[in-house]
Amino acid sequence: MSKILLDVKDLKLHYPFRVKNAKGLGSETRFVKAVDGVSFQVEEGETFGIVGESGCGKSTTGKVVVRLLHPTEGEVLFDGKDIFAAHSRKEDLELCQKIQIIFQDPYSSLDPRFTVERCIAEPMVVHRYGSAKERRDRVLQLMQDVGLRPDQATRYPHEFSGGQRQRIGVARSLALNPRLVVCDEPVSALDVSIQAQILNLMQELQKKYNLTYIFISHNLSVVKHICDRIAVMYLGNIVEIASKHELFDFPIHPYTNALLEAIPIPDPKIKSMSGMLEGDVPSPVNPPSGCCFHTRCKHACDRCRQEKPVMQELRPGHFAACHLSKELMDK
Ligand code: SF4
Repeated sequence: MSKILLDVKDLKLHYPFRVKNAKGLGSETRFVKAVDGVSFQVEEGETFGIVGESGCGKSTTGKVVVRLLHPTEGEVLFDGKDIFAAHSRKEDLELCQKIQIIFQDPYSSLDPRFTVERCIAEPMVVHRYGSAKERRDRVLQLMQDVGLRPDQATRYPHEFSGGQRQRIGVARSLALNPRLVVCDEPVSALDVSIQAQILNLMQELQKKYNLTYIFISHNLSVVKHICDRIAVMYLGNIVEIASKHELFDFPIHPYTNALLEAIPIPDPKIKSMSGMLEGDVPSPVNPPSGCCFHTRCKHACDRCRQEKPVMQELRPGHFAACHLSKELMDK
């Protein structure tokens, strides 16, 4: 087993909001449970995927890991150190350098007033990295790494296509030599033909710079292409974690099975199974008791409505949180 680079322990992020109370007198505080007790580990050099439907808490988890959001409870250890503990200014800056993010939207994530050179150099300027010449040399090297020409350095983001803009975003995320990059749906805003190019580029850069990725996506085909291990999230909880081969060949949790059955098959003779998962995701303000998936699960029983299932290792390296996991595995 490789070294554990990131260790997330029982992470919770609950957003408070005020509502009028039932009698219409005064108000009370309630919480949106965006992330509700998530634990996972990421090994150095791997690509760890997080998948789930919109609103399941996967992007929120990623933003906590890069410290754009502060958790309500739980710990995030990077290289053994709690990233939310009090740090000196120097340690704080080092952590920022080591954990970077690629955002989903290549349009809004780049400042339209900055040239490409300035977009990529900005993190280095903030962190006072090297001299102006060293920064310029690094920008040109990174532009070459992501497939952009040196003469494009003086152009502005609006002069580029979506795929090219995401290449600029990838270059910017690497400017400070990070060890961990959180990739928050980095190809979902791109045309399908461009997605493969960006994914292949990310794999090349991972090898070249020895990077570790957390890859967040709602697209199982994309995750299957790029990830080594995958966590499936539902309503702020992780319900299954396994290597990609285990997850796609031996899915255990009913929610994972439903997601896999909903993958479109490009063959008109094969009947679509996309109707398997019925109903909407419940509100994270008032999540179901017991197993959070019981309102949509065709196997739900009384125990599921009362008792929250715990994550168990059911095959080597394959974890799932379901009361009926053993029975479902034997089917
Ligand atoms: Fe379905 Fe029960 Fe398993 Fe939850 S614990 S996934 S409701 S069978």
